[in-house]
Amino acid sequence: MGGTDDNLTAILYKQGDLRLENRPIPEPKDDEVLLRMSAVGICGSDVHYLTKGRIGDFIVTSPMIIGHEAAGIVAKCGKNVKNLKIGDRVAVEPGVPCRRCDHCKTGQYNLCPDVVFCATPPVHGNLSRYYTHDADYCFKLPDHVSLEEGALLEPLSVGVQACRRAGVTLGSTVLICGAGPIGLVSLLVAKSMGAGKIVIADLAANRLAVAKELGADEVLTVEMSSDAAELAKQVKAKLGGEMPNVTIECSGAESMIKLAILATRSGGCVVLVGLGPAEVTIPVVNAAVREVDIRGVFRYANCYPAALALVASGKVNVKRLITHNFKLEETLEAFETARTGKGGAIKVMIHC
Ligand code: NAD
Ligand code: ZN
Repeated sequence: MGGTDDNLTAILYKQGDLRLENRPIPEPKDDEVLLRMSAVGICGSDVHYLTKGRIGDFIVTSPMIIGHEAAGIVAKCGKNVKNLKIGDRVAVEPGVPCRRCDHCKTGQYNLCPDVVFCATPPVHGNLSRYYTHDADYCFKLPDHVSLEEGALLEPLSVGVQACRRAGVTLGSTVLICGAGPIGLVSLLVAKSMGAGKIVIADLAANRLAVAKELGADEVLTVEMSSDAAELAKQVKAKLGGEMPNVTIECSGAESMIKLAILATRSGGCVVLVGLGPAEVTIPVVNAAVREVDIRGVFRYANCYPAALALVASGKVNVKRLITHNFKLEETLEAFETARTGKGGAIKVMIHC
């Protein structure tokens, strides 16, 4: 297979206990490929599992391989695999659904109750040297798309799903709440879908500066104590007196969800991407009487091809999101950087 033949793997044993261990190299099943992993991005959820040991009802109760924003090179093909060959560079769509339930059959496979999603307990992720995955959930990268960009198709796909669910279209005015990786990919996708003016709000000035670089027309610096109704007025002012058609909420913060509703024009749409407290207080009557639709977003379905096309065509440049690079051996340091956000960390990439 060439290269290193160990299978160094990042395993989360329990809250606060992440270890690097050598594991046997897995064998691909008939419909799977064995990948030599190349780039794996760290997501907020990975950090959350490390620091809290759980996200809602998903609890780390047995050792779990971490990581799900990944790309690698095909090292071996199961006997039924026709779409890929050894040496192909691929992005890994991390959730493989059952393919048989109503949700799967109608194309909303992100809602499949039996989806097997990397690094969501008890399912293993792919921060390792070798990893097997269903071949049809691997997307071949053109030569000019790097493996790091391939790994970034995962968060970019969340942005595609969010903008599709929000109905972003030519000329839309857009408010994005939160300028973390997910807010930033939503910005990139909204622009590529033809949005007109985009304003993005966050607490962190350094993240808003990156948002500007990536093409945000206006930024809104928020403070913890800011009043949502007051902020909604500021959004309108920044849009030349118009209210946004759509708001993409990517922080999960209660105050931002309030802002999302109050700021969106009547008849518009708010999509909830951020996942914060399980229950919050929102101006629900305001949304009702102004027919502001509130829609959920859960991961993505059928978004990888679009995300890849955006990157391959050059319409979207995701590289700016990568602020830090580490080797697999430096995984603990990489997680520490992602956790603390030190050095203006946005996306921390691990190279396997
Ligand atoms: P992140 O934590 O890096 O970014 C969140 C941003 O929101 C930060 O920049 C932070 O400064 C800002 N923020 C937090 N509280 C705020 C407040 N009160 N006012 C203004 N800004 C505030 O996270 P991320 O990786 O960008 O992910 C964003 C959210 O999306 C998270 O809640 C994550 O769980 C969620 N997410 C959801 C899905 C889904 O399928 N729905 C997928 C991926 C991520
Ligand atoms: Zn299903």
